[in-house]
Amino acid sequence: MKFVYSFKEGNKDMKDLLGGKGANLAEMVNIGLPVPSGFTVTTEGCNKYYADNEVISDDVINQIFEKLNELEQLSGKRMGDSDNPLLLSVRSGSRASMPGMMDTILNLGLSDKTAEEFANRHGDKRFIYDSYRRFIQMFSDVVKGYPKQHFEKIISELKKEKGITDDLDLTADDMYDLTRKFKDVYFSLDGEEFPQDPKVQLIESITAVFRSWNNERAIIYRRMNDIPNSWGTAVNIQEMVYGNSGNNSGTGVAFTRNPATGENKLYGEYLINAQGEDVVAGIRTPQSIDTLANIMPEVYEEFSKYSRKLENHYKDMQDMEFTIENGKLFMLQTRNGKRTAHAALKIAVDLIDEGLITEEEALLKVEPNQLDQLLHPNFDLEALKNATAIARGLAASPGAATGQIYFTAEDVTEASKKGIVAILVREDTSPEDIQGMNDAIGILTSRGGMTSHAAVVARGMGRCCVSGCDSLKIDLNNKTLTAKNGKVFNEGDYLSLDGSTGNVYGEKIKTKEPEISGDFEKFMAIADKFRTLGVRANADTVREAKQALAYGVEGIGLCRTEHMFFEENRVFSVRKMIITDDEEVRNEAINEILPMQRQDFEGLFEVMDRKSVTIRYLDPPLHEFLPHTGKEINDLAKALNMTDSEVKSRIEGLKEVNPMMGHRGCRIAITYPEIAVMQTRAIIEAAINVSKKGIKPVPEIMIPLISDLSELKYIKKIVVDTAKEVMKETGVNVDYHIGTMVETPRAALLADEVAKEADFFSFGTNDLTQMTYGFSRDDASKFLTDYYDKSIFERDPFAKLDQEGVGHLVEMAVKKGKSTNPNIHLGICGEHGGEPSSVEFFHKVGLDYVSCSPFRVPIARLAAAQAKIKEQL
Ligand code: ADP
Ligand code: MG
Ligand code: MG
Repeated sequence: MKFVYSFKEGNKDMKDLLGGKGANLAEMVNIGLPVPSGFTVTTEGCNKYYADNEVISDDVINQIFEKLNELEQLSGKRMGDSDNPLLLSVRSGSRASMPGMMDTILNLGLSDKTAEEFANRHGDKRFIYDSYRRFIQMFSDVVKGYPKQHFEKIISELKKEKGITDDLDLTADDMYDLTRKFKDVYFSLDGEEFPQDPKVQLIESITAVFRSWNNERAIIYRRMNDIPNSWGTAVNIQEMVYGNSGNNSGTGVAFTRNPATGENKLYGEYLINAQGEDVVAGIRTPQSIDTLANIMPEVYEEFSKYSRKLENHYKDMQDMEFTIENGKLFMLQTRNGKRTAHAALKIAVDLIDEGLITEEEALLKVEPNQLDQLLHPNFDLEALKNATAIARGLAASPGAATGQIYFTAEDVTEASKKGIVAILVREDTSPEDIQGMNDAIGILTSRGGMTSHAAVVARGMGRCCVSGCDSLKIDLNNKTLTAKNGKVFNEGDYLSLDGSTGNVYGEKIKTKEPEISGDFEKFMAIADKFRTLGVRANADTVREAKQALAYGVEGIGLCRTEHMFFEENRVFSVRKMIITDDEEVRNEAINEILPMQRQDFEGLFEVMDRKSVTIRYLDPPLHEFLPHTGKEINDLAKALNMTDSEVKSRIEGLKEVNPMMGHRGCRIAITYPEIAVMQTRAIIEAAINVSKKGIKPVPEIMIPLISDLSELKYIKKIVVDTAKEVMKETGVNVDYHIGTMVETPRAALLADEVAKEADFFSFGTNDLTQMTYGFSRDDASKFLTDYYDKSIFERDPFAKLDQEGVGHLVEMAVKKGKSTNPNIHLGICGEHGGEPSSVEFFHKVGLDYVSCSPFRVPIARLAAAQAKIKEQL
């Protein structure tokens, strides 16, 4: 089996085998760019190393030496030769770029003898010993794992002694001196001399690259980015070129376009007389690439030419590394460059305009989740650099927030009335905190997962939220927050939250408002041309509905009416309704809510003129509405002519052992049909009222959490009878549809039955996931981390749809539903509606639309377009 390929034998499509760096080096050779010669040990070689108990087999070693031989012939240089020694770089490179995996080794092949003789002959002692000391430094770090500080300390001591700050002011003798000292340190650390045989140096270095595949940083990075352990890394061995051989040499990195703005102009930096990582290491301040045009005009011209050539060849913005040796340019790396969302859109649109790529290709180039950056405020990157996090929780809802902390929703609301920018800090939130959550700039909780109340509501509102930050101790009585490092924050102190990383900072950090540029619009319009899957939003208020429209929805896929019950002036009526035994009192209370509810719907219908508004009937367990404080209980008792203790015992009676499986969803309307009557009345009356103003309402009435057809039938009859009554009273007819959520496994299993009575299904994948796995959305985050740590689960099924299990139920329910009701309209309104891989799945199984939080609408639109394009590939 072939484990080693020379660059000439590879190409860009061989990333699996040669790694990204190796494949692209080969490709650059193929298209005629000046690349130092070399060869690549394959990822299969790495896997074989592990299969052979972490030994490089003789077969692989022989293949390496064979290629080394070829390289010596080709270059006319020999390893260990003191006349003209071949020096090498050893570079890792897996399929996906993995920052932090391992560092590169440069100048491999130098020894005491070659350095000395080479220096004598070459004449530039400084250059030779600079190279040798770098090699010892890198070899010690990468191969031996010796701490870098040992070496850095020696350099800084020497500079101090000599009163200089710039490495360039170190003389030839200094470099010689450093080399000697480095070797002494090397010896002192393990009692072993620095290896003098170049072949030993080489094999040890290759082994180190293989080993680095399984270092801790690499494993963590792979877990975070869904990269399988089985991929392995390749190793590239390449002839050195010397950017540190004087003032006519240098090294740099550049992008074919600006990676921050997308501007079509070469962007990059370089350093004269420098090697390797000097440019990024920050030892010296690099120069902007533009200035190379003045210093070395020909080299600059040549580099610009290659830059254009590479971009045309790869049809994408490139990130390149280069070195200049005595005025001659060498290309050392190219890859598709990382970029901000803003730049990604500009580049995609520009590349279409330039005729370089098709619209389909452009759509596939942008990672949907990246659009998130454009829809929320972000931290000023410079300001963020100087901040240190005090804690890290879940990145529950993206964006950045800086504000003063308050510990209750009411305090936030009070503060915000005074113009204070407030952050709500709670152990967790509940529906009565809605107002405060809305008034806060950000939300921080110490408990709860990605689908906790705080997380779901915050995402819906587009509020930045960090949830489940359990290293923070919250003391509600004293209104303090204590970080793990012991620092105490009081009410009114500043915190900053990064909802995109989960980081919490104990200070003010400057933020920037989102900018939605023209390219964003253009790009989304292209996406809409291709997608066939509809995109709706989960929106409960007029403000959210407007937001959703601005982000391009075709309707509201989920309006949760319970949020409307929680508003301050309403919750009292709701409480009366729940607590009373007296049907008359209950009807009275419900009638107090009716006009408010009607007004809510009128507002939504008006904003969503001609677009569907799917309204879910009251869903949450009733006890969520109950009063807590003595005063609240007393007020309620008075209004209901009950004693405090009677009210308390009613509250006690409503408590449930497992509310998630309790008296909620359609079960509420079955116990209290009056509520369904009222909600129907509010919807139909609202529809009639707005239609008189020339607006076309499209109400879709959605019954939650059914598990049996008879539940749906029972409530449907209430809806139909009430609607008829209202239309008769008013003499006006309006169209409406009745459907149900499919969110219990039983409803999915019996979907063919259920579909007979439903105009539409909407898959409630949050509950469906909870009930399919049998673990609670509220508690799962407590043990799921153990699942990830033990590789039992790779990802959170509440965030990414479990396509095998939950997805199987969805697919089956789609088929069954269509079998008895071919016209049934199908959607999904769980959190998964805004997650790209889940959206692709929903497209594939034939849903008509997905519904997600307004702030994920552009992501869903792009993901839907990509799903369609991929299907046709
Ligand atoms: P990374 O993946 O961290 O970018 P590289 O393997 O690209 O690591 O190496 C880092 C730097 O080392 C390169 O940008 C280049 O400056 C230098 N380098 C690598 N190979 C050579 C070589 N053959 N000649 C000169 N410099 C090299
Ligand atoms: Mg590189
Ligand atoms: Mg539900």
